[in-house]
Amino acid sequence: MAEGGRKAFVCGHPVAHSRSPMIHSHWLQQFGVAGSYTAQDVAPGYLPNFLASFPERGFVGGNVTIPHKEAAFALVAQRDEAAELIGAVNTLWRQEGALHGGNTDAYGFAANLDEKVSCWAKSRSAVVLGAGGAARAVVFALQQRGIADVRIVNRTVERARDLSYRFRGGVTGHPWDALADLLPDADLLVNTTSLGMHGEDATVPNLENLPEHAIVTDIVYVPLQTPLLAAAAARGLKTVDGLGMLLHQAVPGFERWFGIRPTVMPELRSIIVADLETRA
Ligand code: NAP
Repeated sequence: MAEGGRKAFVCGHPVAHSRSPMIHSHWLQQFGVAGSYTAQDVAPGYLPNFLASFPERGFVGGNVTIPHKEAAFALVAQRDEAAELIGAVNTLWRQEGALHGGNTDAYGFAANLDEKVSCWAKSRSAVVLGAGGAARAVVFALQQRGIADVRIVNRTVERARDLSYRFRGGVTGHPWDALADLLPDADLLVNTTSLGMHGEDATVPNLENLPEHAIVTDIVYVPLQTPLLAAAAARGLKTVDGLGMLLHQAVPGFERWFGIRPTVMPELRSIIVADLETRA
């Protein structure tokens, strides 16, 4: 073991904005683990070398963030089931001499809803806005939890359809202008587009057609209360913000590298909320 305990990282480019070091450092301190978790800025051309050499630099593993999740998928020797279906890797570790990659975004998405609105998994139909990398993890989570009818709605309809073909039956792709017709029997609405992100176009889809029992969740967490969540709350619908997904997706990696399974507690959430407010 490296001097000073086990070392883990998050690699991305840029990576300074990542909250992962705050999350893992909080747990290291909470459990009195002598280890570290640091941000490593790795430019795309250096990723193969970084992934091949991190054990020599004393790291036991780490996270992968934008823009490396797809590239890391191609570079690992073994992948878990989630990574395989999602087509992206966000967690790395070494096992029996080989580099393994997993994806914990789907776990984080589902665990956040489990914590906040445990009835969500009884949903029969869900509408997912967006068809990018995050949408793949969300659709995987919805299928894993038995939601039979998943409708992906995207500005570029071809991407919605292509994404639907990755999954077994029950997932369909639709153009943005079909949204009004898809909402009346939706139990769950998930935004995975960058719409509403700080400084981005904040056009909110019309939520009038959603049933009264519908749950609305946004995986964007800057700002915490996105325009979509504000509109849903104004209509009296249950809402869940995206910060919990970020916190929960970190749990399996911490357990793998440091040997303790942490629980996401309100104190950690408050620390990250304070940081989001400071950096806003
Ligand atoms: P991505 O692969 O770039 O996909 C972006 C998606 O947003 C695409 O579907 C794109 O549609 C859509 N979009 C962008 N601008 C739009 C607009 N003006 N109108 C309508 N649709 C628009 O990004 P990603 O990796 O999936 O990430 C999406 C968001 O999720 C980001 O804000 C990210 O921070 C967040 N996220 C959060 C967590 C978490 O832990 N909470 C985890 C992962 C990601 P087109 O296909 O038509 O371009």
